Amino acid sequence: PPASSQAVWRRGGRFLACHACCRVSSRAYIGLGANLGADLGATLTQAALHLAALPQTQVVALSSLWRSAPVDAEGPDFVNAVAALDTELAPMALLDALQAIELAHGRERPYRHAPRTLDLDLLLYGDVVLDTARLTLPHPRLGERAFVLRPLMEIAPELAHLARGHDWASQRIERLGPLSL
Ligand code: ADP
Ligand code: MG
Repeated sequence: PPASSQAVWRRGGRFLACHACCRVSSRAYIGLGANLGADLGATLTQAALHLAALPQTQVVALSSLWRSAPVDAEGPDFVNAVAALDTELAPMALLDALQAIELAHGRERPYRHAPRTLDLDLLLYGDVVLDTARLTLPHPRLGERAFVLRPLMEIAPELAHLARGHDWASQRIERLGPLSL
């Protein structure tokens, strides 16, 4: 059962915890990517520091930095990574925070698939499934992109079942080195 500090109801033999008003932590995975700027590795390091500074949030794991060819995007190669967070922020509040960090890094959206100074995608939020105009969970293209799957498998090999098909195996990607804060 959940911690005793939470509001918990027992109904039909199951424990139900309140996620609206109580401090319930969820494991979330964030995809980080950048392909515009002088030092893409430094951009991702800065972004990871921003994630670590979010309220009610801990960074529990960081993948390596990977270099990948653009997929569904334009411009030069990307540098990518994935971060695992434990957070009490609700999914939409976490998306707000990710978009604020993108903006702080000068992210503009001149057109769809434009090159980006920083892209932060909410890949997974616990086992939440959601399909709204602003937020789809799990991230809809998660299982088809090597630049998500390779770093995700480094820090969460138990999620290997999320890789769909074999398309991603042929996408060009190489490990650059550790992402250290
Ligand atoms: P993409 O990352 O797909 O290349 P953008 O970063 O420009 O494109 O995001 C476009 C929109 O996708 C955002 O305005 C956001 O509201 C929406 N979105 C839907 N689901 C998610 C998710 N899981 N993570 C991040 N953004 C999402
Ligand atoms: Mg995005």
